[in-house]
Amino acid sequence: MKTRNDSNAFMFDAIVLGSGAAGLNAALQLSLRGVRSVALVSEGLQMGTSINTGSDKQTYYKIGMSGKNPDSNYLMAQSLYDGFSMHGDIALVEASLSARAFLNLHSLGIRFPSDPYGQFAAYKTDHDPVGRASSVGPYTSREICRFLIEELKRREVKIFEGRLAVALLTLDENEKKRSAGLLALNMSETASGGKKLKFETFISKDLVFAVGGPGGLYKRSVYPHVHTGSIGLALMAGAGAQNLCESQFGMASTKFRWNVSGSYMQAVPSFLSVGKDGGDRREFLLDYFKSPERVCDMTFLKGYQWPFDSRKIPAGSSMIDILVHVETEIKGRRVFLDFKSNPHGFDAAKISDEARSYLMKSGALASSPVERLMAINPAAISLYMEHGINLFQDELGIAVCAQHNNGGLSGDTWWESPDLSHFYPVGEVNGSHGVYRPGGAALNAGQVGAFRAAEHISRKDNTSAFNADLALKIASDKIQELREWIAKSRNRRDWRSERSEFQDRMSSHAAHIRSESGLCAARDAAWEQFRRIKLEGHAIESEEDAAESLRNIQLCFAHAVYLDAISFAVESGVGSRGSAIVLSEKDGDQIDADLLKEWRIQNCNPLFLEQVLETKFSDGSAQIRHGWVPRRPIPESDLWFETLLKSISANVQ
Ligand SMILES: Cc1cc2nc3c(=O)[nH]c(=O)nc-3n(C[C@H](O)[C@H](O)[C@H](O)COP(=O)(O)OP(=O)(O)OC[C@H]3O[C@@H](n4cnc5c(N)ncnc54)[C@H](O)[C@@H]3O)c2cc1C
Repeated sequence: MKTRNDSNAFMFDAIVLGSGAAGLNAALQLSLRGVRSVALVSEGLQMGTSINTGSDKQTYYKIGMSGKNPDSNYLMAQSLYDGFSMHGDIALVEASLSARAFLNLHSLGIRFPSDPYGQFAAYKTDHDPVGRASSVGPYTSREICRFLIEELKRREVKIFEGRLAVALLTLDENEKKRSAGLLALNMSETASGGKKLKFETFISKDLVFAVGGPGGLYKRSVYPHVHTGSIGLALMAGAGAQNLCESQFGMASTKFRWNVSGSYMQAVPSFLSVGKDGGDRREFLLDYFKSPERVCDMTFLKGYQWPFDSRKIPAGSSMIDILVHVETEIKGRRVFLDFKSNPHGFDAAKISDEARSYLMKSGALASSPVERLMAINPAAISLYMEHGINLFQDELGIAVCAQHNNGGLSGDTWWESPDLSHFYPVGEVNGSHGVYRPGGAALNAGQVGAFRAAEHISRKDNTSAFNADLALKIASDKIQELREWIAKSRNRRDWRSERSEFQDRMSSHAAHIRSESGLCAARDAAWEQFRRIKLEGHAIESEEDAAESLRNIQLCFAHAVYLDAISFAVESGVGSRGSAIVLSEKDGDQIDADLLKEWRIQNCNPLFLEQVLETKFSDGSAQIRHGWVPRRPIPESDLWFETLLKSISANVQ
């Protein structure tokens, strides 16, 4: 298919939307596999989560390739599958392609640590039974992006930056919907002042959808500010989703968004709660843990156990997240980490053997937390320094934040949407993970998904009729509809105020502490807000307002779908699992007789651990449907070499 550039319409064989680690690799793999005309469309190469975030030691999870411990695709698949509610066939693909995906990054020049014999060093990450993790430091995903961008430029893959996709185009085909491309706003022209919104149409037979996680849905969020995500576009277009109820939450600094995991906790700082006016400063963990030693041990453990985990309460380290939540969300106070002073009663001789031995081995038995942090990981201090925060002097404001969505859009074993053919959700927007996942599995899944989608697109018989003219006609009608929607806006509230409303709602009801009654009310309010925005638009004073208004409609829709799915899950009785607990007025265990006496926490219902929650919106009937399906087991595969060799020649593999 030729590139066409008339009246702002472009045509390609395949388009990748989104330039995070996943989208960039998808574009590269499509180009390497000889797909003739490929384009990458994105808000910008410096946008998204991958290039703007990291963590203490940002992790990539891959199959074991070093040392004396044996590993295999099946063993790794089992570790992924052990996270529950994940399909076994997807786990096997993510495991089987992990070596290929990792070595691809290595061959692009990313220097994952290896020994003189070429073995890649690995360490144990959370939910990892054997030690498969690798990293290049705090900015692994940023390095991945930088090397992939360089390679795409070298290969002269066409890149459209400054584009905000505002709608997906679909056609009916064989009683099913198929993807036909997308509509975007050219933001560079919009930002350059006062002109009419410039819509562009991108028509393609295949669309790789790599728009990242739902960063713009939560107020308390460690996703970078620049990243909002666009899962709402696909949900509106009829792509099904799964496990939307499973996300990961954890403590993060809020002024500069960064997880306070690993060494930040191992240095054992003190936790301060401060009143709104800056007065009434007090350490609050002691109220619950009772002894200073326990406060220090739990703080240290939080380093290894960063995401909030419903299994680690009431006795474990996740109680810290709950106590922080109580201070910030219920009492309306602010919480700070203070690295200048030790927690009350800190005594290195009295902390757990594990903590003492770690601090001793790291030469970090110094007298203050910041000195200990300096000894463990000086980069952790300079990172904040680069963002104007001096841990030697400043206290670090924190909250429990949304970090990752394990669920997302559904995909088959080639990452193609079962509901929308020719549409491939890859990266975080693909909800391949279950309740728990090993740290680093997100980056692996994104790279693997990119390989699978590219292989599928490049191999399939794409000679069937594709009605590009009809797609263009649908695009032009849609542009007209969107222009009219903007023109007739009569809402007094602008997009910022509407966005803040749904972000607040998500953080209050759909984060790590949930309740059936709260969710039910939040779900109703969410749909009401969506209907109101659809009817009234937003107050618009500039072209930028109009663009953000279009972004808001899909974000608002997505938040309503998430709340709908989460309330369905809680009403079904899933109970507390993964990174969320469910409070109940009727049943459940009390956490603490004194401190949180009104809190009763529902237990996890094991029946749902073997199932996947599916969600689908049908715009025809304007209805949303949820249902539990049994998860598929890890398949036994026929690896008989001669059979597979024959299938390669017949190209039927
Ligand atoms: C603080 C933090 C720490 C993390 N640590 C780890 C870790 O250690 N290990 C791990 O595996 N994972 C980690 N993750 C998760 C991981 O970083 C992300 O899941 C991953 O980077 C997402 O990559 P992606 O390519 O799917 O999306 P992104 O990198 O978010 O890219 C999305 C792209 O889509 C574009 N886009 C979105 N909407 C539109 C639109 N409408 N129009 C045009 N373009 C659009 C964006 O601009 C961007 O280019 C962490 C996440 C956070 C926030």
